[in-house]
Amino acid sequence: MAQFYGNEQIQHTLHQMLLRDRAPHGFLFYGETGLGKKTLAKQFLAELLCTGTEKPCGSCKSCKMLADGVHPDVRFVEHSGKRNGFSVDTVREVCVDLASPPNEGNAKCYVFGDCDAMDTRTQNLLLKAVEEPPAYGYFIFTATSPASLLPTVRSRIVSLAVSPVTEQECRAALAERGFSPEDAAEAVAAFHGNIGQCLNFLENMPIREAVGLTKTAINSIINKNEYALLQTVSVLGKERERTFLFLNLFDRCIRDAIVWKHDPCAAGIGCDAAGSKKLAERLSDSAGQAMHRAVDSTYGAMEANVNLPLALAAFCADCMDA
Ligand SMILES: [Zn+2]
Repeated sequence: MAQFYGNEQIQHTLHQMLLRDRAPHGFLFYGETGLGKKTLAKQFLAELLCTGTEKPCGSCKSCKMLADGVHPDVRFVEHSGKRNGFSVDTVREVCVDLASPPNEGNAKCYVFGDCDAMDTRTQNLLLKAVEEPPAYGYFIFTATSPASLLPTVRSRIVSLAVSPVTEQECRAALAERGFSPEDAAEAVAAFHGNIGQCLNFLENMPIREAVGLTKTAINSIINKNEYALLQTVSVLGKERERTFLFLNLFDRCIRDAIVWKHDPCAAGIGCDAAGSKKLAERLSDSAGQAMHRAVDSTYGAMEANVNLPLALAAFCADCMDA
């Protein structure tokens, strides 16, 4: 089973709760995409369900079934209905299923991953089950922000923030998965201590391309070359996913440049440390803020379904005017 790195405090807390038989029946693990929130959920469940002595032992029937993804009492609920949400039918089905006791041990667990788009109706439908689950019932939610869940749901569960690991831990995790030190270094330079995003970078060409585009865009801004910037973003065409990714990466680089102007030793979060450092030398605070606003208004335009190339042209003009 994939190991969960870092976040010793959370791991310790969960372990202590289980040791004392005081584990809450509902959790929200939140933090940015790629931090291993679902891996953490799986690790918690392994310890909860293990029948060995050193929990999780990794060798009992429960541990093996969980590792193989076939544990009858653990369900990673799949998204259904609207994009990245959970349909009413799915939630009803979970509530019905919860009423029957576990097959194996004395716990039955539902993991609702990536709940950022879980709507109010389905959350309300689930509220009763989360509020008063049977003694064997457990719910784990994961999301990028705690605000993804309704306050009523959150008040019934324990919310824990998951953080990125150190870059060293991240390199170790990548090495364990068979990546060369060079590849690992390249990924960590772009995505720091976010293991999931580093893996994504190494395994998905589009992510690599988006990082490349971001570096070119930052360079165009350093050189005040609007034409080059327009050409760079034109590569995105009408692809919304890639554009979102690009804007997110770009925004992080601008954030780094603004922070480094004031504190060159601060930790970076962007994918282009060299570019952001250069930019920091010539970027005013107001120009940085203006670029950040340009990103925000492009997100807004995308949500309003404005023609993407037009929105990106406006983005370039705004960045250059800054
Ligand atoms: Zn076990």
